[in-house]
Amino acid sequence: MTRILIGGCQQEISTFNPVPCEYDFFDRTYGDEIRTTHEGTGSQIGGALAEFKTALGDDLELIFTYDAEGTAAGPLRHSAFLRIADEFLTPLKDHAGKVDGVYFSMHGAMGTTELLDPEGYLLEEARKILGPEVPIVISMDLHGILTAKMLQNVDGLASFHTYPHVDFEDTGRRAAQILIRIIRDGAKPVAARVRVPAIVRGNELITDTGAFGGQIRYAKNLHDNPAVLSAGFFICNPFTDVPELCSQAYVFTDGDPDLAERSAVEMANEFWPNRHIMQANLVSLEEAVSRGASMAGPLAFTDAADAPSSGAPGDSNAIISEMIRTDYPHSILASVVDPPAAAKAHELGVGATFHTGVGGALDSRFTPLELEWTVKSLSDGKNIKMESWKYILDTGPTAVLTSGNLTLVVMTNSIMMVDRSIFWANDLDPKDFHSTIVKSPQCEPAFFDDWVEANFNVDAPGATSANLKNLGHTICARPMYPLEENTVFVPNVEMFSRS
Ligand SMILES: [Zn+2]
Repeated sequence: MTRILIGGCQQEISTFNPVPCEYDFFDRTYGDEIRTTHEGTGSQIGGALAEFKTALGDDLELIFTYDAEGTAAGPLRHSAFLRIADEFLTPLKDHAGKVDGVYFSMHGAMGTTELLDPEGYLLEEARKILGPEVPIVISMDLHGILTAKMLQNVDGLASFHTYPHVDFEDTGRRAAQILIRIIRDGAKPVAARVRVPAIVRGNELITDTGAFGGQIRYAKNLHDNPAVLSAGFFICNPFTDVPELCSQAYVFTDGDPDLAERSAVEMANEFWPNRHIMQANLVSLEEAVSRGASMAGPLAFTDAADAPSSGAPGDSNAIISEMIRTDYPHSILASVVDPPAAAKAHELGVGATFHTGVGGALDSRFTPLELEWTVKSLSDGKNIKMESWKYILDTGPTAVLTSGNLTLVVMTNSIMMVDRSIFWANDLDPKDFHSTIVKSPQCEPAFFDDWVEANFNVDAPGATSANLKNLGHTICARPMYPLEENTVFVPNVEMFSRS
């Protein structure tokens, strides 16, 4: 009987979001709950389960421990992380020396208010508990920051090969396959990684159509070689400012260090010349609003700098403030997280008018927009089904406020605004407005691009700005392109092997 232990812990954070993330922000599942949550689904754990069953059939016992999943946010409060870490690690103690393999589902871009490599900590502590012999394999997001500490404590890893991400299940399957090859075939993993001093953003990262697709195709082709256990390329989350933030190539082979080294270097070398085009193409705030004012519409203004799906608080009013300042002549639809303004509207009721500042309630880089507002409608914000993904959103007490030509959905909770869900949930359709502001790094064409005259990718301030130079990194290794334009890349291979 092959006994495999399964757990997980995943989140990505923006260091530049001043609001810490709390324990309750995580969906936590315990023991066999993990099986019922993931079995038969397209998640990483779901894919790994299916692969283990296919490969091992009845000769398989799965042991589920703990899984904590949080969406993007500000840095995790350290005390909350310690609680999650304890819940992640404690169940492992019952299984030390009794399992043949371990699979953990991770993201890789966590950060706490005190700890800069939480996944490395979890894996190092898990290794201490489970012992040096048992193989541990993880799956990761390609926005994860793979660290030396993580590599010192795992025997294999598989990362997404797609952006936008659609290969959750496949990644879980690839991670499971590595573990199976170690357990069943006696594979001896040896890993090479090459760190590239560049952080990147923008459309060239779309794996189907952009330049970054080249590295991914290279990594996928490597999998055809039976000596290769896994290969991939991390573009990392540029908003997670940690010491090992960078782009990086990795290759795990079965006992072939030369192949691992050669392939990782080649991937990194092919990536480096594309660093210039792998940056976002942005329009300045002033220019976007000025051009929009003279256009027939409809228009979309993409504010990726305040995208909660990337870890921003969602309380930016930068674009609407510029529109109000310049007497923008068209109807505007926008959204903002502002708990006090939402509460005030609920206290006063529909039809009331009041004067208050809106925006900047969480991130002090924004100045509240002081206007006279009318409460158009109120809702509890519960059970909002996303247009794009499976998630159900809870915006908390929510109000639609209007002032002149501006209609604003004011929410209590920071939730993902990658599509039109929050507008529809409040009986508002972007198609009824000249200009809609969407707080998302990447909208599917059907949401806006297919029917608007133009979609301005605005260079606004915020915790998840695609203008990487202006974010204010202080921790990552330097020089780092594009923070230093003249950064030089000399490939340096780091090798890892646990045998
Ligand atoms: Zn990602």
